[in-house]
Amino acid sequence: MQSKTQQRSSILQTLRDIGRPVTPQELLATAARKSPGLGLATVYRALKRLVENGDARKIDVAGVPPHYEIQTETHHHFFVCETCQKMYDLYGCPGGFSKLLPPGFTMTSHEVVIYGTCRSCAT
Ligand SMILES: [Zn+2]
Ligand SMILES: [Zn+2]
Repeated sequence: MQSKTQQRSSILQTLRDIGRPVTPQELLATAARKSPGLGLATVYRALKRLVENGDARKIDVAGVPPHYEIQTETHHHFFVCETCQKMYDLYGCPGGFSKLLPPGFTMTSHEVVIYGTCRSCAT
């Protein structure tokens, strides 16, 4: 039986290894291989703590359940596969969004989510 701290660091490591946003269920499926007996409630608690500590980030977008990923300074966006509901990071920002604003409006930040079909679902 692992301690709470060990479980949390193994969950963080799994999140890092997966390298894309995941749901707690997806995270559990992978993390449980290394930590047998790990439960969903523990994953939720660990994720909550990791978000509070600034190690992870919760991503809420329309159409899919909340996903979690490693906190990074690198500006990026998301792709959501409407078939498998998996979320992927997109790097490279087209920018220029402030051009869309009406006169007198100022932009503080933006989020871009592209919906479609991922490669494994397309074949
Ligand atoms: Zn897919
Ligand atoms: Zn951007």
